[in-house]
Amino acid sequence: MSTPVLVDLRSDTVTRPTLAMREAMARADVGDDVYGEDPTVKQLESRLAQAFGFEKGMFVPSGTQSNLCALLAHCQRGDEYLVGMEAHTYKYEAGGAAVLGSIQPQPIANAEDGSLPLAALVKAVKPDDVHFARTRLLTLENTWHGRVLDPEYVSAATSWARAQGLATHLDGARIFNAAVASGQTPAALAEGFDTVSICLSKGLGAPVGSVLVGPAQVIACARRWRKMLGGGMRQSGVLAAGALHALDHHVDRLAEDHARAARLAKGLGRARAIEVRACHTNMVFIDVPLARLDALRRHLEAAGIRASIGYLPSVRLVTHLDIDDDAIERSIEVFARFDA
Ligand SMILES: *Cc1c(COP(=O)(O)O)cnc(C)c1O
Repeated sequence: MSTPVLVDLRSDTVTRPTLAMREAMARADVGDDVYGEDPTVKQLESRLAQAFGFEKGMFVPSGTQSNLCALLAHCQRGDEYLVGMEAHTYKYEAGGAAVLGSIQPQPIANAEDGSLPLAALVKAVKPDDVHFARTRLLTLENTWHGRVLDPEYVSAATSWARAQGLATHLDGARIFNAAVASGQTPAALAEGFDTVSICLSKGLGAPVGSVLVGPAQVIACARRWRKMLGGGMRQSGVLAAGALHALDHHVDRLAEDHARAARLAKGLGRARAIEVRACHTNMVFIDVPLARLDALRRHLEAAGIRASIGYLPSVRLVTHLDIDDDAIERSIEVFARFDA
């Protein structure tokens, strides 16, 4: 028999709804949302639209669908979007924009801090010429690998984009982590963007869902795409109620996840075979010699600890709602025994 999983640090998507959240979901007032008749979904959409300084919101089953609806709403077939080479929208969404929208990505190497350097962006914009795809959109991601983007950079990049006539989209899957860590309001973090995608099923701990916020016209267009993609849900107020509960109870507590990530990074710093590369908000990245990766995987598995190993350049550990202080201390102790 394999060891049961005791500590799951792979991602903040693994959280299970709390009892209080399940109760809120059970009580939800619902209707058919494709007819625009689910009051709980509407409440969630308008609450987030307002908090982020936009006219409208749209509840979707996943962050991937939210980003895709935004890309499809901003870009036509043959348009191009500027995106980070390591960005979720480019690298981890199965090439949806290209497959379903005939939208060409123009990947730009992310700097260490997650920014797409302005000089690289300037060079990547294509002139209006029959040889080129039409550069149409800039997308950024905040937080990026747990890092909060530098607000001065965001302001410079979005102003530049606007001056070029480009639309701007923010993949804010973990935007509330950015807000809690930096003290910026959601509206300040959204400043300069035409649309923002917000995940409810990551650190906020809801079981399902993201919301795309933006101007009424863009969201209306995105709604048609959502329907086409199969994301029109019916009594989805059950899900939205979980998200509303999360907004009421799980935002401020993200600070605990950040403190636990810092504690984990500090503890791992003493493990001999491990190099802590970075720790930001709720994420810790560690480097292990390539030849030792399989050994680390087996070592952790035997101790009931799970981490993201193998598809990122380094090992990723993520703190979340289901990781308490004991889980952190246990993990530090297990890592310390690796190769000791
Ligand atoms: C998780 C994530 C998404 C996509 O969310 P899903 O709900 O898993 O589809 C998008 N962007 C970023 C940065 C993410 O971390």
